Amino acid sequence: MVFVLKKNAPQQKIDQFIQKIEADGFSTFISTGTEHSVVCLIGNTAKVDVDFVVQTNDIVEYGKRVTEPYKAVNRAVHPDDTLIKIGGITIGEGFFQVISGPCSVESEKQIIEVAKSVKESGATLLRGGAFKPRSSPYSFQGLSETGLKFLLAAKKETGMPIVTEIMNQTQLPLFDDVDIIQVGARNMQNFDLLKEVGRLSKPILLKRGFSNTIEEFLMSAEYILSAGNPQVILCERGIRTFETMTRNTLDLSAVPLLKQKSHLPVIVDPSHASGIRKLVPALSKAAIAVGADGLMIESHNNPAEALCDGAQSLDLEQFSTLMIDIKKRVAFEGKVMS
Ligand code: PEP
Ligand code: MN
Repeated sequence: MVFVLKKNAPQQKIDQFIQKIEADGFSTFISTGTEHSVVCLIGNTAKVDVDFVVQTNDIVEYGKRVTEPYKAVNRAVHPDDTLIKIGGITIGEGFFQVISGPCSVESEKQIIEVAKSVKESGATLLRGGAFKPRSSPYSFQGLSETGLKFLLAAKKETGMPIVTEIMNQTQLPLFDDVDIIQVGARNMQNFDLLKEVGRLSKPILLKRGFSNTIEEFLMSAEYILSAGNPQVILCERGIRTFETMTRNTLDLSAVPLLKQKSHLPVIVDPSHASGIRKLVPALSKAAIAVGADGLMIESHNNPAEALCDGAQSLDLEQFSTLMIDIKKRVAFEGKVMS
């Protein structure tokens, strides 16, 4: 249940209102929008008389029941789009950011070369995995701390904010200088990790688990917001279906649906969704058309020799060519790319 407060409601009265609700056994959280603040009640609200609360509290504009289990991420609770600002760029509705870089950081030279090139092509954030969740224990597991060091060197060299994946909460101290922490598909329901990144005040890129429903995806985001961190970017990266010709199936309808149900930014990863380099341009364009706020595209200086996900990685020239098309289509949607 939420109560939307009147514009300019005095803080003292808001505090009293919240105290009263909490004394009745509910927990609350406040969502502060540009126009109105919203007080959300968590608990069994079946017996709460919405009209009575509105009539007896002059700071309350109106109240309504939120039936969905996700509250903090719900657009009904927070009607304004969440905009996330990082390193001079904005992620969210009205903007369009492209995150690019290799699946994994392989050397300092490699990540700097890729960073310079994708920046030149128009990417605004650099990705690269240092800790890699691989299906096989015999596959390359990432350069770990050294990979993070190389990624930070690329950030220093290019000024690009960096996005990289965390595998578990014990790694958190290593991520202090990382701009956006990625929680990957395999960790989408690692609730202990979600709670920990929920304590941070930096953006979290949360990828959809490959067998998770949209509601489960939103509930995972709810873990992060309810722990205190409102800066979550949702990433649709393909789900498992009966299809075997693609690595996953890109669930395009998830994008407008997530944007309707939630106020959080939504981006698309066409690389993991398809697993096939040649499909990445078409899926990128589709993502723009269905209203995504950005893309995460794997690129590599030499995909044939990549230590991870080479088959889905664009080479730097292919990425540059695709970006020319992306820029035109994003301009057509009336969104800003820097
Ligand atoms: C990745 O971004 O390299 C990655 C491992 O993605 P996902 O978690 O979506 O599989
Ligand atoms: Mn990858």
